Amino acid sequence: MIVLGIESSCDETGVALVETVAGGVPRLRSQALHSQIRMHQAYGGVVPELASRDHVRRVLPLLEAALADASLTKDDIDVVAFTRGPGLAGALLVGAGVACALAASLGKPTLGVHHLEGHLMSPFLSADPPEFPFVALLVSGGHTQLMRVDDVGRYEMLGETIDDAAGEAFDKSAKLLGLGYPGGPALAALATHGNPEAIALPRPLLHSGDLDFSFSGLKTAVMTAMTKFGPAPTGQQRADLAASTQAAICEVLVKKSLRALQETRLSRLVVAGGVGANTRLREQLNAAGARRGLRVHYPELALCTDNGAMIALAGALRLQRDPSAARMDYAFDVKPRWPLVQA
Ligand code: ATP
Ligand code: MG
Ligand code: FE
Repeated sequence: MIVLGIESSCDETGVALVETVAGGVPRLRSQALHSQIRMHQAYGGVVPELASRDHVRRVLPLLEAALADASLTKDDIDVVAFTRGPGLAGALLVGAGVACALAASLGKPTLGVHHLEGHLMSPFLSADPPEFPFVALLVSGGHTQLMRVDDVGRYEMLGETIDDAAGEAFDKSAKLLGLGYPGGPALAALATHGNPEAIALPRPLLHSGDLDFSFSGLKTAVMTAMTKFGPAPTGQQRADLAASTQAAICEVLVKKSLRALQETRLSRLVVAGGVGANTRLREQLNAAGARRGLRVHYPELALCTDNGAMIALAGALRLQRDPSAARMDYAFDVKPRWPLVQA
């Protein structure tokens, strides 16, 4: 069975084709991606209306490219999966509209996929796929959650951020440091020249005894540090602050992940979402994992941020478990707000 996946929840248009394999992990046949980052950079963040319009422009050419790359035609598609939510309503509607129109024209069913389920399942496309059950650390631009995952669709929330997401903390701190959007990769790059212990920054909720996170206080601390530097901070001061910010975010993420593994008595951790691309986070989790005999799984670097492959994969995994999940009503009802545990 060939599943087409379409992602359009925010500022990436992604299209991918996966093929289901009896008793195994679906295989990625091809994918095509267009990032709108450069378009939004001039505004310092995502402009929803521009995002929607650009998805309209990109999605069909990307579909043609993905089909050609897999040597398939539209008629080979058995199910059209699309990101139903959460995300920007207008952006979601583009993907959902295209998915439903295409499926209707082919007489094939659709499947609305939860964007975070896509992120969570993306490590299954890596060379070192995990096994259920596992603890998932989902760290993206809009979410920071620790979950127990027993199977596709079987999630238990262990803890989450009470304010900003980890990716947001990277992005907002980067902005204060005068770096561009998206700030995560830029802050991480600057941090390689800095001393992570140079500036004392808070580790919010580190000792709260639960698995929740809070990152909004960190950006205030970063702002205070910048103010102390005066109007013209040196390159070294900025690098030290970047390194110290990254260290603070990573320490909380690592300690809480280890706590979640301890509390659930599970030995596998899956890290997903854009912040999962962060080198320091990976190094620290790998080191802690090695010390404690834990396995840590990640998506391929290119699949950490939004893409169509994770949506096609999550759709295919859902269908393997419940073929009736696919629908023929072409009602493209998107869900801009949609808790994963309700998916
Ligand atoms: P959500 O999935 O919650 O709706 P999103 O789709 O915008 O949000 P992703 O695409 O998963 O989020 O990730 C984007 C985030 O990851 C941004 O905040 C970005 O700064 C951050 N990010 C990407 N690469 C890195 C990195 N190397 N280090 C730190 N943060 C990073
Ligand atoms: Mg993005
Ligand atoms: Fe995402």
